[in-house]
Amino acid sequence: MVLPIVRYPAQVLRAKCRPVLEVTERHRKLAVDMIETMKDAHGVGLAAPQVAVDEQMAVIDCSHDPECVTYLRVNGEDRKLLEFMPIVFLNPKIEGGKLKEAGEEGCLSIPELRAKVTRPEGIKVMYQTLDGEEVTVETDGLLARAFQHEIDHLNGVLFIDRVSAAAKVGVMRRLKWLVIEWAADDAKAAERAKRQQANAKA
Ligand SMILES: [Zn+2]
Repeated sequence: MVLPIVRYPAQVLRAKCRPVLEVTERHRKLAVDMIETMKDAHGVGLAAPQVAVDEQMAVIDCSHDPECVTYLRVNGEDRKLLEFMPIVFLNPKIEGGKLKEAGEEGCLSIPELRAKVTRPEGIKVMYQTLDGEEVTVETDGLLARAFQHEIDHLNGVLFIDRVSAAAKVGVMRRLKWLVIEWAADDAKAAERAKRQQANAKA
């Protein structure tokens, strides 16, 4: 089931998410729905708070670009990217390498806004799967960026918080207008729904 995606400035996007201590059927169902929602929105990743759940769980799929990493090691073994997608991960811990790289990012919760964010190029991330397996992933490229972006979400951090000081004023000004536009779109959609309901009754 495709879930509604929460948009900025919803409060849940600022939540520090709770760890998942016990995986239940609800988490398994949520993972399936989150993957479907991410694909439907043509996203590379989606974190639980983006579908209004404040738990440490996220999904990633960058199989649209099999060349987007130069290496991928899972539990110390070289793996092919396509065999490893989509990823569902819980309770992650991340370490970033010293080398940093600037890259453009967007977010399904902040549509129509893109900005350059500088992050570690290579990462090591440790997480749990839905089956309780402990996994260590070392990688770079788009997958490393996606992990960092989604793990930020689980800590209530958004990519707009990480743009350079010089770009921040412009980004926040644009975002202010977008929020007004989204509210107007939502009001129009609500009005349409109300009219349809009234017509159905008549
Ligand atoms: Zn995002």
